[in-house]
Order: sequence, then structure tokens, then C-alpha cells
Amino acid sequence: GLPSAPPPTLAPRRKTRQIRVGKVLVGGDAPISVQSMTTTPTTDVNATLQQIAELTAAGCDIVRVAVPSQDDAEALPAIAKKSPIPVIADIHFQPKYVFAAIDAGCAGVRVNPGNIKKFDDKVAEIARAASEAGVSIRIGVNAGSLDPRLLRKYGKPTAEALVESALWEASLFEEHGFRDFKISVKHHDPVVMVRAYEMLAERCDYPLHLGVTEAGPAFQGTIKSAVAFGALLSKGIGDTIRVSLSAPPVEEVKVGVKILESLNLRPRKLEIVSCPSCGRAQVDVFKLADEVTAGLEGMDVPLRVAVMGCVVNGPGEAREADLGVASGNGKGQIFIKGEVVRTVPESEIVPTLIDEARRLAHEMKAS
Ligand code: SF4
Repeated sequence: GLPSAPPPTLAPRRKTRQIRVGKVLVGGDAPISVQSMTTTPTTDVNATLQQIAELTAAGCDIVRVAVPSQDDAEALPAIAKKSPIPVIADIHFQPKYVFAAIDAGCAGVRVNPGNIKKFDDKVAEIARAASEAGVSIRIGVNAGSLDPRLLRKYGKPTAEALVESALWEASLFEEHGFRDFKISVKHHDPVVMVRAYEMLAERCDYPLHLGVTEAGPAFQGTIKSAVAFGALLSKGIGDTIRVSLSAPPVEEVKVGVKILESLNLRPRKLEIVSCPSCGRAQVDVFKLADEVTAGLEGMDVPLRVAVMGCVVNGPGEAREADLGVASGNGKGQIFIKGEVVRTVPESEIVPTLIDEARRLAHEMKAS
């Protein structure tokens, strides 16, 4: 058949420079990548690699590890070598850890040249070493650690203050001819954060790493991140994303992946179309939807499964999906590609959907 057109997105991507984070390209026309950060002690190489494997399986493209001490720096070679995805070392003040991360084979470093300049000015050496090794850097401006000079100037970490700080940090690398970096301007307030990224997008062509910092526990953090990233991505702003949650990092990755899938910025995989249920429902829709979601967790093909509570919208949505159920009278009509293939008792709905989904997934992979 004819190749199908890519699914529509809300806006063309902003034109940016492209940088390389190991095998992952960021910016330009590269797909928007999902990042997360390990929560294990970096010194515990096995636990860290185990967590990186989980993140990778969930769809993470780039992982960051904290390097607060010499012991952590010493763990980097083993982690960088064995990680299936590029590793970024997160460093705050000490240039020696930046050099250690570059030597260790890390694909990137998150470090602010402003901090380096203040304590031990090795910005030129860092720019040279990163450039020679093909390592890119993230400048990460954060409301919580804004330069005191800018805090005094603006009174608080406003969007303008974050942008001024980011452009100043960028200039510290630019003066050494180094431009292989991306920038983040994080704030816990999505309104300030969105404004800051919009302004930054107008004032430079560096790729942008989106993040709402300290977004909170899973529920609040998911919503704040989805709203803020959605506002920016729908205007084409954002080249790589990190959802920050006070929750296991695999949850961050799942949320990040779903945000991109929702906006057609990453091919959709399993999608559950389930109704909210209402007074017409003749089955327990919440339970059905949860059980089907759990039963199909990890399915990696673009399958759309509809779980509908009654015959009002049920058959319509179920027909639009690859597979679906429209329930009524203690029974479920199972639809595959628009055709009712059978009617099963309520207790059989979940196992039938899961079996059929697996069969369809198998066929999709074989073709
Ligand atoms: Fe209500 Fe039926 Fe719509 Fe579900 S499909 S919300 S049960 S009308």
C-alpha cells in the first residue's frame, strides 16, 4: 500500500541547532527525547544499571546520574560503558568531576559554567575537553539556584531572570567557541516556566530541555508537567523533556512518553480508549479499564483498545478501535476492526480482550 502520512502535530518544530548526546541527537529534526534521572546512589553501579535498564524499557532515551563526590565519579566509567542509553553526569561545582565524566565516556554533562567560573575557573578547559570528546553539555538554570545577582535585580526568579541567567551562562561557553549545549530554565510554576521557555526560544537557537522542577508527587507533578510541556510543545518549543516527580523515575518516563504520544510527537503504542462511565453503564468500566491496562502493560505496538460501558457510544468507539468491547446487559460485544466477532459474559470480557490484543499484536509484528 501507499506509505501513510505521518500523523498531524499541532505546530512545526522550532528550528534549532542540533547537538549529540551519544547516539541520541537533540534538536534540529531529531525526535523529541525523554530523559530521567536515577535515584540510586551512583556509587552502587549494579543498582544504577538495573534502574537504567527499567527506564530504557519504559521508553527513556537519555539518563542522568548525580555526581556529588569522588566515589560517584569513579563509578561513571562502568555505568557509561554498560548503560544501553547515553549517560549524562550531573555536576554542580567541581570541574574535576566534569573532566572525570568526560574521561569516563559519559555522553553529556549537566553543568553551569557560572558555577565553575565562581569557584575554580576552568570554563575554557571544560569547553575544550568537551569539544574534543564530542560531549555535549546542558546548562540548567533553576529557580531554586538562581544567581544571587539576578535575584537582587529581579526580586525573585521571574521568567526574565531565568532567561537572562541562561543567556549569560551560554555566553560563558560561547566566548570559548563552544556551542554544543542545550538549555533548561526550570521553575516549579508552569506559568513562569512556560513564559521563560517562550522568551528563551525567541532569543536563541539552542535546543531546549523542558522541565517543571519540583513538580511534586506523581498526580500533581504529572498534571503540571503535562500542562506546561503541552503549552510549549504545541507551539513547537522543546527538544528533549524530563518530567520530575517525587516518585520512582520509571513513572517520570511513562508520563514523558505519554505526553509525546498524546501530541503525535512520538509514535503511539498501546492506547486505551475507555469511557468515564455514567448512569447508563451496565458494567464496572473503571475495573474493566484498569484490568485491561494492567493486562496489556508493556505492549509495544500501536494498538487501540476501546473499553466502553454501554451501547450509546460503545459500538461507535469500539468500531473505531482495533479492538474493543461495548457492554450491555451483563455481556460484552467484542469488536475487532469494526466487526462484532463474538459476545461474551462480563466475566470473560477482560481475558478475551487480552487474548485478542496479544493475537493482534503478534500479527502486527509479523507483517
Ligand atoms: Fe455512559 Fe455509555 Fe458513554 Fe460510557 S459509553 S459514558 S456508560 S453513555
